[in-house]
Amino acid sequence: MVVVMKERATEAQIDAVIARLVEFGMDVHRSSGATRTVLGVVGSGKVDKGLIEILDGVHEVIRITEPYKLAGRTFKNDDTVVVIDDVRVGGDEVIVMAGPCSAENEAQVMATAAAVKRAGAKVLRGGAFKPRSSPYSFQGLGEEGLRLLRSAANAHNLKLISEVMDISQIELVGRYADIFQVGARNMQNFTLLRELGHARKPVLLKRGLSATIEEWLMSAEYILSGGNKDVILCERGIRTFETATRNTFDISAIAVVKKLSHLPIVADPSHGAGRRDMVAQLARAAVAAGADGLIIEVHDNPDRALSDGAQSLFPAQFDRLMAELRIIAPAIGRSICLEPVARRGWAR
Ligand code: PEP
Ligand code: MN
Repeated sequence: MVVVMKERATEAQIDAVIARLVEFGMDVHRSSGATRTVLGVVGSGKVDKGLIEILDGVHEVIRITEPYKLAGRTFKNDDTVVVIDDVRVGGDEVIVMAGPCSAENEAQVMATAAAVKRAGAKVLRGGAFKPRSSPYSFQGLGEEGLRLLRSAANAHNLKLISEVMDISQIELVGRYADIFQVGARNMQNFTLLRELGHARKPVLLKRGLSATIEEWLMSAEYILSGGNKDVILCERGIRTFETATRNTFDISAIAVVKKLSHLPIVADPSHGAGRRDMVAQLARAAVAAGADGLIIEVHDNPDRALSDGAQSLFPAQFDRLMAELRIIAPAIGRSICLEPVARRGWAR
């Protein structure tokens, strides 16, 4: 349930309501908006609604009918903006995260980071722990990969996102990355999600290969209910009967999530398409549909990539895409990379 406090409710009244709810065995998540405080009440206890309604300072008690209590708009109607220093995911600016699927070596990471920065990306992406479908495929460089990614991000003033596959990696990945990525294959790794609920860094939660939007929001709920409010959803394509593309990129998920949830949503057209000649179309469509950001695979030499080369853009393709997105975004009241970007020297 949600307890909406009166506009002029005092701190003492809010504390008293929280204390009463805790007595009922519930967890209380407080959200203080511009005018009033809303308390999200979750847990397995039973609360007598009438006993809460009569407490001082309470305006209204609403039962949340959706199974996702904290991720839904009943609890929090205002869009969540995930803030990482000067990077705001979920604000007016469409944030672009780009980089290689995997960190492979210093030259590759550095060259790719330089290229994506120049084109206007704000966040460097790159995996050091890779969830590969085959145990014989490249599994990532581990800590060495994280080290390379962090120094490239620092050198180019980029934030860093990297995947964490297991609870045993949280501490290590958290030492290097600014955003934890939870991969599609781990969307329902509930132990991992619960643990990330206690992390102090944002989590980008990819949609599972066969997950419904409700299941995806329930996974976000695991992180939110642990106290970590900085969850970014990521649509990366789902498995359908269609085989022409690696996955079926579900553009409608962007509209559905925007309606149901206050959490920001970014789109991953690279894994959605699975082939680089279709990434730009999907990226443009995602921004037009209202995505708060994109996460795109770019490689300085994609034909030699150790993972996902076929879907990785050449730097020049990424540069061109960014120029197109700068035209699309304002049409729907958004912007992309406000700072002037040094564009000289880029061949088309
Ligand atoms: C990735 O981002 O490289 C990745 C493995 O993505 P997903 O979990 O969406 O397959
Ligand atoms: Mn990949």
